Amino acid sequence: MASENVQKKEKCKKCGSENIIMVEYSHDSPEYYDGVSEIQCKDCGARFGRWSERELKEGEVEKRFG
Ligand SMILES: [Zn+2]
Repeated sequence: MASENVQKKEKCKKCGSENIIMVEYSHDSPEYYDGVSEIQCKDCGARFGRWSERELKEGEVEKRFG
């Protein structure tokens, strides 16, 4: 039984791919947060805010706590 630390699989909200990466902003970013700020899809390239859950435009960053 390896049920510890089972996380709900995150999926891309656009294409449904599980080929995603959790992005943390660097310390020098104005929206730096000690944890994941956005979810990026490696298949379609879409980026989603961790709190807002909306798609981020090119160059847009997810604000801390949305
Ligand atoms: Zn996608």
